[in-house]
Amino acid sequence: MNRRAVLSSVLAGTAAFAQEKKPNRFNQPTGYRDTPVIPFQRWKVHDIDRPAPAVVTPSGVAGGAPSDAIVLLDGKDLSHWTFAGKKNKPKMDWKLENGYMEVNPGAGDARTNESFGDMQLHLEWSAPPEISGDSQWRANSGVMIMGMYEVQVLDSYNNPTYADGQAGAIYGQYPPLVNPIRKPGEWNVYDIIWEAPRFVGKDLAKPAFVSVIFNGVVVQHRKELIGRTPHKIVGTYEAHAPELPLTLQDHDVPVRYRNIWARRLTL
Ligand code: MG
Repeated sequence: MNRRAVLSSVLAGTAAFAQEKKPNRFNQPTGYRDTPVIPFQRWKVHDIDRPAPAVVTPSGVAGGAPSDAIVLLDGKDLSHWTFAGKKNKPKMDWKLENGYMEVNPGAGDARTNESFGDMQLHLEWSAPPEISGDSQWRANSGVMIMGMYEVQVLDSYNNPTYADGQAGAIYGQYPPLVNPIRKPGEWNVYDIIWEAPRFVGKDLAKPAFVSVIFNGVVVQHRKELIGRTPHKIVGTYEAHAPELPLTLQDHDVPVRYRNIWARRLTL
């Protein structure tokens, strides 16, 4: 480009900018139409026509549900849950007391009445204060996303066990990056971001991805799941619905849960 072309280009850019720019800093432009298109997007840089994100009102307390969350457990009732039951056991609910629900050994997994695909999930859990059992029998439970992909819940405080079965593990696949667990009886916090797998017919089109923040510490960063999370074998995918209930595992230990909420995500 010669000097004249450069100069005219600069002047053209200045003129275009001047069209949008208002005279003082209290009356600024709200976007532009003379900017380049962002690669791999349909929008221009600072595009004036790009829709604004929906407004969400955050909670006034740390860990509280924002305005667009589905509150699954607020400690007052079990209305969002169904209890799966176990063979040869009477039908029972989990216990609800003091603002938390507690695994009722033999009642079976707790399953949400709502179904979820892509989502953000917040929950808090605690192991019984009295230590009982060891390895995988110490406060084992689990967050079974879509009822089959487990983020492990376990009392991993001074509890030797296999790494891909510790709290915060994607069971049988990925140990947590670190172990930030609190002592038995104290409350742990999971914040989980889940990208559900996609299927076309019986074939996997896109695997699941999960991120887990455990007591404020990243322990899984968009890990690609290799399939389901069974015990002692390598899990595979089997096609399923795009949205399914979340379950919490009854592993015959009275683990407690509180403050559970989820947000459906459009990714
Ligand atoms: Mg488990």
